Amino acid sequence: MKIAVVREASPGETRAALMPESARSLAAQGVEVHIESGAGEQSGASDADYIAAGAKIERDRNALLESADVLLCVNRPADHDVARLNSGAVVIGFLRPLDEPESLSQMVERRLTVFAMELIPRSTRAQTMDALSSMATIVGYKSVLLAADRLPRMFPLLMTAAGTIAPAKVLVLGAGVAGLQAIATARRLGAVVEAYDVRAAAGEHVRSLGAKFLQVDLGGIQTEDAGGYAVELSDEALDRGRALITKNAQTSNVIITSAQVPGRRAPLLVTEEAVAGMKPGSVIVDLAGSTGGNCAGSKPGENVELNGVIIMSPLNLAATVPVHASQLYSRNISAFLKLLIDDKGALKIDLDDDVVGPACVLHQGEVANDRVAAALATAAR
Ligand code: NAD
Repeated sequence: MKIAVVREASPGETRAALMPESARSLAAQGVEVHIESGAGEQSGASDADYIAAGAKIERDRNALLESADVLLCVNRPADHDVARLNSGAVVIGFLRPLDEPESLSQMVERRLTVFAMELIPRSTRAQTMDALSSMATIVGYKSVLLAADRLPRMFPLLMTAAGTIAPAKVLVLGAGVAGLQAIATARRLGAVVEAYDVRAAAGEHVRSLGAKFLQVDLGGIQTEDAGGYAVELSDEALDRGRALITKNAQTSNVIITSAQVPGRRAPLLVTEEAVAGMKPGSVIVDLAGSTGGNCAGSKPGENVELNGVIIMSPLNLAATVPVHASQLYSRNISAFLKLLIDDKGALKIDLDDDVVGPACVLHQGEVANDRVAAALATAAR
């Protein structure tokens, strides 16, 4: 079996899908690992590192794609690259199948078998494959550093000969993996942190990091699905959260927003009124830009200023930490890939497996996932 990794083509992408340490362990399992020359350049892995790990370096990208049994990627490959793949080849990566289902059409046409890293269940068995958590950890950490860099104040409480400096106040909205890492990072820098999430279970995690959990009475409605994800709330329930956020925004120097509902537009949590109530010089980092944003006025991929408040909406923060982002992603994707390899190093796809099945988007070109089928039906309307 031949595994291929090519240079990521998306603008600004610095990560690589496979690092030499993972290539070494796959090669030891008897699979051939072929890497396009320079694919690991920006994440600290040279061609020589891959060769030392037992991989082969290829200079001809098209020839590599045409001969691959499995293509490992970070982002969904462009249609012209997909067109080079053999019918029946396997693609694994972050493919956005719920957000952009119609963009799978070329993969359907090529009759590919496709696995989305974002659909791997958050189960105990699949923890080593949880690339969403790996990337969210990096994003949460980096978001606080971005905010600290733009804020015209320091984060910690300082008692100096020139007097006392009050600590920065940070409000984190959404206390999933990214939000919790943002809380931990802001706390390490000495900020006073408070956080809000609709899932009651998040309260315990927030408090364990030394932050205050803001509670909103949502009238006992269900806020979480069976998989532990937040559900889409009614406007009335959202308004209750927004009212508290607007009040607390007035005293916050930094707001980090990370609230997401899988397959839906991100909830609007910071209203224009909330932004207007913040002091000039305050910073908002909206981490939900790719799904519509949590903050009024935020523009995906841009920094804007509203009444002296900076609103940043970075789209690929994980790519700003390419070494560790690639290292974690590579471990996640190779742990998943190992479920698809038998003891002789050949491909074996068992859709009854409780991790492989849910992660499968297309099997030989046929839609294999109910959520993706529903997203495709909605997109076709
Ligand atoms: P996510 O990126 O889907 O959402 C981020 C956060 O936004 C979530 O905590 C969510 O509750 C919150 N949110 C959504 N709507 C909101 C609203 N209107 N107001 C405020 N907050 C809102 O979440 P994630 O970080 O991917 O984590 C999702 C769940 O999966 C969490 O329960 C997490 O603990 C769990 N998880 C489990 C494992 C595991 O057991 N292996 C690993 C990672 C995550």
